[in-house]
Amino acid sequence: MALSVAYVAESPDALDALYEGHDQGFSYAREGHPNAAALGADIAAREGLAHGVVTGSGMAAIGAALLATLRAGDHLLAGAALYGRSLRLLREDLPRLGIATSLADATDARAMEAALRPETRAILIEPVSNPLLRVADLEGIAALARARGLTLIVDNTFPTPAMLRPAAHGADIVVHSVTKLLAGHSDATLGWVGTNAPDRHAAIEAAATTWGMTASPFDCWLAARGLLSFELRQARAAQSAAAIAAHLGGAPGVVRVIYPGRPDHPDHARARALFGGQWGNMVSFELRGGRAAANAFVRAARGLAFAPTLGDISSTLSHPASSSHRGLSAEARAQAGLGEGVLRLSVGVEPEATLLAEITAGLAAVAAL
Ligand SMILES: *Cc1c(COP(=O)(O)O)cnc(C)c1O
Repeated sequence: MALSVAYVAESPDALDALYEGHDQGFSYAREGHPNAAALGADIAAREGLAHGVVTGSGMAAIGAALLATLRAGDHLLAGAALYGRSLRLLREDLPRLGIATSLADATDARAMEAALRPETRAILIEPVSNPLLRVADLEGIAALARARGLTLIVDNTFPTPAMLRPAAHGADIVVHSVTKLLAGHSDATLGWVGTNAPDRHAAIEAAATTWGMTASPFDCWLAARGLLSFELRQARAAQSAAAIAAHLGGAPGVVRVIYPGRPDHPDHARARALFGGQWGNMVSFELRGGRAAANAFVRAARGLAFAPTLGDISSTLSHPASSSHRGLSAEARAQAGLGEGVLRLSVGVEPEATLLAEITAGLAAVAAL
């Protein structure tokens, strides 16, 4: 891997052959570079897909997928609990391009079906929602998309290919925020878009190149290095997440624990079927005592970085009411089950005992209020 953004050609004839696609190689990094090509192919292999394009962020990946798929007059249907920026893209930006959008409950394929329109061209979902970890009816929605000839786009950032390969369930395009679990060290912002269809791949690559969504060679290098330990990090984090969910489950001061591995999770059975008995590294929970309890917990659990990201090698805590979901009114948050006492923990690779001690310290501070 190298950090160059421009590449020498042997002759005008050689450059011609390159641009015409007769020769493999690179000319200028916005059009593609070796680091992005290697990283893109690595993630494609993990997803079981033939093609993958690396982009400068997860949002760029979603943007490239949508630009490659939709045109003015089309309608895009999406899951209602999407990532905040994706919701904003649907609400404010696509309509300016003449693309109508609407949202429906992705845990219910019938609700999605009811929201389809004659001009619907694509469906965008996340298999696991943030921070309530609701699991989409991927099978049902894929059947709908197949029956109607719609393009199904799946943002697989939360499950990662370690838990789910959406293409095996009917997704036409898979996107990632590589920034999160795949790269895993919060030092590179990157995205990825993959597909099996050569024409889709060409359209995605053209959109990403023309709109300048290209990734930096250095970020790709960092992510490729991070990917080397992805399985290890994921397995370790998932194991600790199960222990933390169990620990929180019996604790006083905890109103509820949101973890797909718990039988009381509303999508427990679907998660088991879709993820083959894996439950991931995310645990959300609600403390009794609202914002004051959340403040006390975060301050006392000093070893859990309070930072608005997920999937880092170190554990991170987030408070949806003041960050990812702050755009919603207090009423809308309460209705969605995202009160001031809700925290989301992205579990990292620290020793399990260290993590449990942090949780215990946080809960003790809440109890002392
Ligand atoms: C973070 C995230 C994104 C956006 O990715 P960036 O790399 O931050 O642009 C998209 N979807 C999901 C589910 C995410 O968690």
